[in-house]
Amino acid sequence: MTSIPRFNVSSRYTRTKEDSDDSRNIRDINRADSSRTAGSNGAAASGDSTGSDNSRVQLGFANLPDQMHRKAVKKGFNFTLMVVGESGLGKSTLINSLFQQDLYKDRELGSVTERINKTTEIEKRYIELDEKGVKLRLTVVDTPGFNDCINCQECWRPIEDYIDNTFEQYFKDECGLNRKNIIDHRVHCCLYFISPYGHGLRPIDVEFMRRLHGKVNIVPIIAKSDTLTSTEVRELKERVMGDLERHKIQIYRMPETDSDDDEETRVQESEIRACIPFAAIGSNCVVESGETGRRVRGRQYPWGVVEVENPRHCDFTKLRIFLLGTHMQDLKDITKEVHYENYRAKYITERMTKRKGPREEMETRKSKNTSDAQFEALVDTEGLLKEKEDEIRRMQQLLQHLQSNKSSQGGSADGSGPPTSSAAAAVTSANSAGGAAAVSTTATSSGGPTGNSSGGAAGTAVGGAGATNGQEAA
Ligand code: GDP
Repeated sequence: MTSIPRFNVSSRYTRTKEDSDDSRNIRDINRADSSRTAGSNGAAASGDSTGSDNSRVQLGFANLPDQMHRKAVKKGFNFTLMVVGESGLGKSTLINSLFQQDLYKDRELGSVTERINKTTEIEKRYIELDEKGVKLRLTVVDTPGFNDCINCQECWRPIEDYIDNTFEQYFKDECGLNRKNIIDHRVHCCLYFISPYGHGLRPIDVEFMRRLHGKVNIVPIIAKSDTLTSTEVRELKERVMGDLERHKIQIYRMPETDSDDDEETRVQESEIRACIPFAAIGSNCVVESGETGRRVRGRQYPWGVVEVENPRHCDFTKLRIFLLGTHMQDLKDITKEVHYENYRAKYITERMTKRKGPREEMETRKSKNTSDAQFEALVDTEGLLKEKEDEIRRMQQLLQHLQSNKSSQGGSADGSGPPTSSAAAAVTSANSAGGAAAVSTTATSSGGPTGNSSGGAAGTAVGGAGATNGQEAA
């Protein structure tokens, strides 16, 4: 589940001539050692074993993956899954089937009249799963009301806003003081349910995916695939993939299999890749299988049983392996490295552009929303700090210059004497510009508290002039 670094030192290592000479020397030494040992002990084989022991010296870093594994297991894992699709497509049933829970016990289905003008809502449910000591805290974000009312023109907007808000929250937390304990609410995967009754994607599906594909990993699902024949499932999948390409929609793409993956993994991954969009079936019941007579999760029809976990009946098992077994970490990585980074870059660029605009306009905008203004101040702090640091660096250079001038004129070489008026002014300027950290740096380099205190006394009065004074002296 966690990405484990691979230590390919030996494979990247290229042998040079000196290396081979060295190794020959080592072999010669070993051989000499062995003959010596054999000579003294009469054990001919001991020399060889010394040589091979040397080549197998263990430094201990081979345990690093174990250390990471232990640490990750102790910490547990978080995963946030969003489900989107119109009401009745079997979203809750599929989630229950995937996690073998009844997550929707308390769900209340509104009447048609209630749903006519209802907008998309966001509902979160949490489950904590434990498998062989590994803990997974799963958040399921449901979106009831999506595509349910008469006018569904902007029903994707609350979902987009929600995803943006999670990114913004994460960004703020990253800029804050308690960065170590950030709670990650970002959505790692969005299961998008496509109706089995249409002829491919519908306008609302296209609109939703076009709006959201740059912000979340979209995994398309063909809902209730037991209502279609095998040929119909295949044709619908082809049409959906064609529509996605035509509308340039980037759903989540599985990474290419690594060349060092074993054959079984490669076959499994190519099978999973081939069946996207997943044709899913869900069920909240356990029934007796017509084939094996075992009790299985399935749907009982007058003509037989549809088994949820039977790969010949649907792609449910592949979906579960993909989601929980093989690609959970990649979904999290893409969220972090692609979607969140895009958001962050866009956010910062927008703020920078705003900052360049007329000052008054920014002030008005800031006053509109206090929390936004506070956040902008946070982002602005970085720029401000940099400016201050540059200023301090200039002041320190100036001070050094003054000190060397002073010593060349026969003053105290170690800089312990009282600073000249211009040096004192320079210290003051740095002092007033740079804050606490700057003060301590400047005080050390200026050679004692005298400079600092005289600077402090003169601070407000000569701070501005000090720099000019210093520059003239330099
Ligand atoms: P949601 O509103 O999208 O959460 O849909 P539900 O999970 O509540 O399911 C709505 C109805 O569809 C219920 O009667 C389910 O029993 C039924 N249903 C759920 N999954 C499937 C499925 O895979 N195939 C079929 N045929 N019916 C399903």
